[in-house]
Amino acid sequence: MTQSLRKTSLPDRRGSAYDPWDHADRLGIEVVTRPIRTAHGLWLPEYSTILIHSKLRPGAQRLILAHEIGHADLAHPDDRPKHERQADVYAARNLICPRELEAAYQWAPDEGALVRELGVTTRLFRAFVLAEAA
Ligand SMILES: [Zn+2]
Repeated sequence: MTQSLRKTSLPDRRGSAYDPWDHADRLGIEVVTRPIRTAHGLWLPEYSTILIHSKLRPGAQRLILAHEIGHADLAHPDDRPKHERQADVYAARNLICPRELEAAYQWAPDEGALVRELGVTTRLFRAFVLAEAA
């Protein structure tokens, strides 16, 4: 039996347990950290490689990598605004677990607290909410 090159594009775990480094590995994407001048992260389709800015804190690198994996898995050839929104939704769906969100909704007094609890940015949180409402 022939084995397909890409077994699945789905990550092992979502939410706070989501590991984008493992996810990238499973997709056959190389992740390289470098001091980049122009962006926090870059998807280089011709090299199947994602560059992540090495000066970012690990938590921020995780969010940027989750977004760049979206570009890679959705086979985006460029970063036009529509693709940016799609990559945000892709990242948010992996970074936010509906069960964790529901638990945080019980006590978080506002969006800022909710976002901090979930470990995402306001932009990613709003992308998630808009996509789930659609
Ligand atoms: Zn992007």
